[in-house]
Amino acid sequence: MANVFDNVLEQIDKISELMKLNDKEIKILSNPKKILEFDVNVKMDNGSKKEFKGYRVQYNNARGPTKGGIRFHPNVSLGEVKSLAFWMALKCAVVNIPYGGAKGGVIVNPKELSQKELERLSRGFVRNVSDHIGPMKDIPAPDVYTNAQIMSWMLDEFEKIKGKHAPGVITGKPIELGGSLARSYSTSMGGAYVLREIVKIREQEPADIKVAIQGFGNAGMNMAKILDNWGYKIVGVSDSKGGIYNKEGLDIAQVINIKSSKKTVTAYDAKKVSNDELLELDVDVLVPAALENQITKQNADNINAEIVLELANGPTTPDADKILFEKGVVVVPDILANAGGVTVSYFEWVQNLYGYYWKEAEVLEKLEEIMVNSFKEVYATQEKYNSNMRNAAYIKAIERILAAEKLRGNI
Ligand code: NAD
Repeated sequence: MANVFDNVLEQIDKISELMKLNDKEIKILSNPKKILEFDVNVKMDNGSKKEFKGYRVQYNNARGPTKGGIRFHPNVSLGEVKSLAFWMALKCAVVNIPYGGAKGGVIVNPKELSQKELERLSRGFVRNVSDHIGPMKDIPAPDVYTNAQIMSWMLDEFEKIKGKHAPGVITGKPIELGGSLARSYSTSMGGAYVLREIVKIREQEPADIKVAIQGFGNAGMNMAKILDNWGYKIVGVSDSKGGIYNKEGLDIAQVINIKSSKKTVTAYDAKKVSNDELLELDVDVLVPAALENQITKQNADNINAEIVLELANGPTTPDADKILFEKGVVVVPDILANAGGVTVSYFEWVQNLYGYYWKEAEVLEKLEEIMVNSFKEVYATQEKYNSNMRNAAYIKAIERILAAEKLRGNI
């Protein structure tokens, strides 16, 4: 995907006009601070050696150490990693946590590797970047096809190289190695807090709100569980095999059981819908929680929801965004809606630096405060610029990044 970063540059152009940024400011926003590109050499189980292309992009560090996940996927490209690193910088700034943005990736299909090969790849990645990451430099985390086990190997390799413990070098760790309570469902919880604030402003009651959720993995399933607990009516959910719909509401506890035993929500007894149909259901809230580019100019006109809460990264294309705005649909942008994940990663890092661990309730209380305040700031910015919530979140984040750059004397 050679052109993904061109989309970012286009976004920067658009926002620069709105914010009346000067050339120096635009240059800072348009260029990553550091790009690392390397080969990870892995000894395969059959004794042969294989090289995998790896990247780490540290986009902006004016507000603190850079932060962002590592993706293992065959479609990884430098353009994609740069774009994701830019969005991480914005996401951390929009919720005002003291981080810059980064992202990493390896071009690999991890499903084709044995556990031992995956371990050697993970350790090899760290050997390539060990001088560039660290609790006060750059802090990786899991992303697509990387997980807590991979974070454990990476932490272990880093600590071996440095000869000391450094749990704050990486987040998304298992609890036993310094992970945080509530991290596993923090993305959905953060999104749920934001939705609750919007519902309050609209003077609606959860029981009157019908919700459809696309994707039933970590983000989608936890969202369904939380909103169901809070009294919302979840009428449609889907996974890669398709979706289910009941206008009276689904029994979410049962859907979760069926998903875990049968591996798909479609085994639940309800009307079957396709993933395309799910997006167009007659609901009040639509939560894309699966993949990017799901709401496009082809289907945006058919979206019936009044609120779209982007738990997935990049589920709405720029063309569709425009159509939704003109229809009056409230789109809560990914950099705000799913920022609960990186916020609890930040709490994990704070606890690691402190060497003192918080109870789950304490983590949630702090998460709620950050998400609610960030939403209120974005909402006020939206009113001020008379724009949509995505532009408002970008503006708020960019203001913070540029203020830090200015104070450092870089502008
Ligand atoms: P996951 O792998 O746990 O779940 C993905 C889900 O999407 C699965 O249920 C899968 O069946 C479903 N899916 C795949 N293709 C689909 C399709 N065509 N239609 C409908 N469903 C489909 O991943 P996740 O961690 O839940 O992440 C989902 C999205 O949320 C991604 O965009 C991710 O970047 C974003 N996100 C996740 C977190 C987090 O903490 N998990 C944080 C920020 C953003």
